[in-house]
Amino acid sequence: MVKVYTIASGKGGTGKTTTSANLGTCLAELGKETYVMDADMGMANLGIIMGLEDVPITLHEVLAGNAKVSEAVYDGPCGVKVVPSGISLKGFQNADPDKLRDVMRELIGKCEFLIIDAPAGISRDGVIPLAIADEVILIVNPELSSMVDALKTKILTELVGGSVKGAILTRATMENTEVSKQKMEEVLGVKVIGIIPEDPNTRRAAAYKSPIVVKYPDSDASKAYRRIAANLAGTT
Ligand code: ADP
Ligand code: MG
Repeated sequence: MVKVYTIASGKGGTGKTTTSANLGTCLAELGKETYVMDADMGMANLGIIMGLEDVPITLHEVLAGNAKVSEAVYDGPCGVKVVPSGISLKGFQNADPDKLRDVMRELIGKCEFLIIDAPAGISRDGVIPLAIADEVILIVNPELSSMVDALKTKILTELVGGSVKGAILTRATMENTEVSKQKMEEVLGVKVIGIIPEDPNTRRAAAYKSPIVVKYPDSDASKAYRRIAANLAGTT
């Protein structure tokens, strides 16, 4: 059965795109037919970190009614399929977020997992991905501002009829000034389903336009992403 996860946070820069790219790649590596779609249509980064920033047709053209979904699907590492958004502002202006649900319907006929990389914030294009997923995964950094924004995103998800699977704590250093896993679970009211450590190889991998799980498979963040993916895939 297909499973649609939206990767959301509230706050910007918490690691949504990094997590979407890496979880998607890990799921594909596990033999699961997986699509990753960049629904952060204004600040589209998924294509940039997966080496697809120059492609001619993106989700923008599909949502503008100028291309078919199949024309915006590209091969990523380990067999993951990627639907990037374009980097031009004009493309964003012409893209209609209300058509996202139709794109999703078309993709879910083809895969076992669809990972949707959501934008930060609570604008219309940010709320639609929360509503259309089977479950939302909150990406939080262990700090108060990130926790508060994630809580708003959780409440918003439930308001629009969606549900939250859990939270992934990213960029964790385990310093005692950080918000703990227990505190995060207590405040958000959801389980922390994985912890990704702060890992400088994440940024290095992005510079090589490759997910960290491919470029640095033995690094700590890669091991953590593989564990979460195995749980989602039900292979552990
Ligand atoms: P978002 O999509 O939520 O805006 P990104 O995935 O683009 O966030 O990540 C924001 C920045 O944080 C990027 O520079 C990325 O390389 C970096 N980053 C993400 N995860 C980690 C990590 N575990 N360790 C170190 N840097 C990270
Ligand atoms: Mg992003």
